[in-house]
Amino acid sequence: MKFTLEQQHRDVPDDALLADLKRVAGDSGLGSLTWALYKRAGEYGAETIRKRFGSWNAALLRAGLHPSKRWRIPDEELFRNLEQAWIRLGRQPRRADMDHSSSSISKSVYEQRFGTWREALEAFVAFINESDNGEVPVVAPTGARRKMTPREPSLRLKFKVMRRDSFRCVHCGRSPAKDSSVELHVDHKVPWSGDGETTLENLQTLCSDCNHGKSNLQESEANQASEVTARKLAEPQG
Ligand SMILES: [Zn+2]
Repeated sequence: MKFTLEQQHRDVPDDALLADLKRVAGDSGLGSLTWALYKRAGEYGAETIRKRFGSWNAALLRAGLHPSKRWRIPDEELFRNLEQAWIRLGRQPRRADMDHSSSSISKSVYEQRFGTWREALEAFVAFINESDNGEVPVVAPTGARRKMTPREPSLRLKFKVMRRDSFRCVHCGRSPAKDSSVELHVDHKVPWSGDGETTLENLQTLCSDCNHGKSNLQESEANQASEVTARKLAEPQG
């Protein structure tokens, strides 16, 4: 992940950011404001504002503006879809990729939101690079094992794991990029139900076949056991 977003305007007060949102919205006469318009006419970074207030819509509401209809799809959903496309392709999606089977959301939605396809990618990278400090660990009942992390990896962590593993199953090497029937999962090496935590180090990319075959067994036993456990697909994994 080599390209990063500008980190300027970190020390601008909230009021100044909100005032500038109102100014640009007032100039447009719309009572609302898209990300793309603000990027063209605003004084500060749209990404700075999104981060500061949690979401673009939240910033608009704080500024007394109406959320635009274009914002019906939450940012996180756009990023989730982009992540899925990235995983399916095994590489950074190009603008043209978002027209076909790789994406359920059209590239024009991204361009309305972020300006250009490149800017959509930059917003995605900034989102992935944000820390997960908003995520609260599961509070275990009294007497149960205390966990430091939630069982489910966040969108960010899942992407980091798969990217590290080159969007391939670490056991059999298959990938959705080469075989569209392959589905990748993020699996706990040491099960979360045991001592394992949901961390980059304890997570690995497996295809659904290898993941189901593995269950909670040690990796060395996984191949022998795969036929036996194939019938237990409904059980939660990892
Ligand atoms: Zn596999």
